[in-house]
Amino acid sequence: MKVLSELYKIPVPEEFFSDLDNKQLSHCLVCGKELIDSQSDYMIEKVFQVNNNRKTTIFEHAICMECSLELRKSLSTESLANIENYFRKNVDFIKRNELLIENNLLTSKDWLSHCIVKKTPLSDCSEYQTYCLCKGKYLNPGLLPYLVSEEVILEINELLSVKTKNEIDGFIDKYYGFPPEYRELMYGKKLIFV
Ligand SMILES: [Zn+2]
Repeated sequence: MKVLSELYKIPVPEEFFSDLDNKQLSHCLVCGKELIDSQSDYMIEKVFQVNNNRKTTIFEHAICMECSLELRKSLSTESLANIENYFRKNVDFIKRNELLIENNLLTSKDWLSHCIVKKTPLSDCSEYQTYCLCKGKYLNPGLLPYLVSEEVILEINELLSVKTKNEIDGFIDKYYGFPPEYRELMYGKKLIFV
């Protein structure tokens, strides 16, 4: 029997490319490991803000699975459990994935048209985060890309412990040198490491 990743070789969509050069993100933000030629497992996260129909990317990064697991370890157990509960209550990722594949809904339009939790249409989102799981230059078809709206990001923030919030601030400090106007915004709203 063929495995899912052989049946669905879907290249990482352009929506997840770097804004800097419009190319696929190729290295882990944390350890610097090359991800595409090495056919590594990794995730890409991007955070956008929309102002007067102008979309600005606030964060974009690829993180390898090893570093992602390490990052999760640095968050408090309570916060991780809260995030997992939140998604378990609100989204059936496996069912969603099955439905998308069964119905051949395999483009970014199908995945990123609305918030996976609140169903808010993309056109109504003034801030949102997109996420995808990849292997080398392809998507990992076991979890197709999704989008969460600002409302969800804020709700998840409410579930994070002080320790976790400090860890995430430390991560942002270490890897992003934000101009002052973004600092306020980003330190209030935490990235979600799922
Ligand atoms: Zn890494």
